[in-house]
Amino acid sequence: MEKMFETVIGLEVHSQLMTKSKMFCTCRSDYQNSAPNTRVCPVCLGMPGMLPVINKKAVELVIETGLSLNCEIATETKFDRKNYHYPDLMKGYQISQFDLPIALDGYLDIELDGGDNKQIRIERIHLEEDVAKLLHRETFDGEKYSLLDINRAGVPLMEIVTHPDLRSPEEAHKYLTGLHAIIKFIEVSTANMEEGSFRCDANISTRYVGDANYGPKVEIKNVNSFKSVFQALKFEEIRQRAAISKGEKIVQETRGWSDERGTTISQRSKETSSDYRYFPEPDIPPVYIDKKWITAVKSQMTELPKVKRGKFVDEYGINDYDAELITTTREISELFENTINEIKHINIDLKKSAKSAANWLNVELPRLLKDQNCSLSEIKASPLNLALLIKLIIQGQVSNTMAKSVFDESFLNGENPVDISSRLGLVQINDKESLTSLIEEVLGENPQAIQDYMDGKDTASRYLVGQIMKKSKGTANPKLASELMETALKAQQ
Ligand SMILES: [Zn+2]
Repeated sequence: MEKMFETVIGLEVHSQLMTKSKMFCTCRSDYQNSAPNTRVCPVCLGMPGMLPVINKKAVELVIETGLSLNCEIATETKFDRKNYHYPDLMKGYQISQFDLPIALDGYLDIELDGGDNKQIRIERIHLEEDVAKLLHRETFDGEKYSLLDINRAGVPLMEIVTHPDLRSPEEAHKYLTGLHAIIKFIEVSTANMEEGSFRCDANISTRYVGDANYGPKVEIKNVNSFKSVFQALKFEEIRQRAAISKGEKIVQETRGWSDERGTTISQRSKETSSDYRYFPEPDIPPVYIDKKWITAVKSQMTELPKVKRGKFVDEYGINDYDAELITTTREISELFENTINEIKHINIDLKKSAKSAANWLNVELPRLLKDQNCSLSEIKASPLNLALLIKLIIQGQVSNTMAKSVFDESFLNGENPVDISSRLGLVQINDKESLTSLIEEVLGENPQAIQDYMDGKDTASRYLVGQIMKKSKGTANPKLASELMETALKAQQ
């Protein structure tokens, strides 16, 4: 029987932590929005004799991430020096964590095609400092040179490492998007891939199904989008299988991904940890994490999206798809929950209103933000106003079409929907008398349409209802208007 190949993938994600200051000094960590080399001090410049001081917040953000990814939190953790020389490394070593990371032995579930869950084990999450940024340039006559921006040096970075549990580029993609969603939701990192605050290195090897040992692994670096990670892994999977089929040996090495060429390119043979000559950082004492500290971090944590989704489906009766969308970001899920709390106070059907709230937040809100070209923080989204609008709709006081204008006005300037609908004259005409007199007017003006109706043209009654909507500037209740019109036309016969 022909032997089947099996792909083995492990991922290392580096994610910048959302702290105000850097990992070991008081420089601000907002390196993206500052002029080059303005966020620097003797510590992050790597001057001799300077002493690093741990950023407590950074440690707490890793604890929070660890708890969110089902990890054990170490009771004792320490920092180590990882030694290597490169122009972006100011001190000639990076302060990282070697054998005692903050969090270990966690997992993240991914959903496989077909609906089954697969547990991807997380080996460790450790804390380290980022390095400076090198910008490669060229003069007009082709001379190459590099610029160094040290603002990023010392920014806190956590590294989340999986066991080699992933078996395909598709699984790797699912893990990455799942991890990214959690990191963003718990707000420990902006996790912005374009800005480099969420970066991925992937280890991939190939073996035959049933082999106990792993094949030599290739590490792919320089991948900065989900799409590129997927493409790079796909390329490497095919390359390795083809090589093995031809009887070639896979070399353990680091390969870079080129978006332009769509291939991985050999960069250097892979280092092992002994190449870095790790040793404990002598300037930083070990950190002890006791139960009290973990409890304090826990008490500040938000519910995870998965927990919220379950609650939204079970308690508020919204469907899985809506629940998924609502929990894409923390902002929206909180807006939804606060709206539900308001709805509970104003005495309208909870499940009906929850469905409506989900619809406004999943469909109309993104439309409004797109139209206005702005973000949620720039408008005046109010849970109370959304709840009041939903009440107006459920009670039939504004139609769905009119409600859109009310929603836009309310979310843009914070005004109460009841005031807006009366100010704009958008209150729906639901009373039969007003509608009947409108119908009489319209019938009087359109004898031809009445004749058409008599002649059996179906479109005639729709045309007449259209005239009512026009006359009432869209405020007539369309359903009631068409029922009454039908009765009035029958009476004409
Ligand atoms: Zn500094």
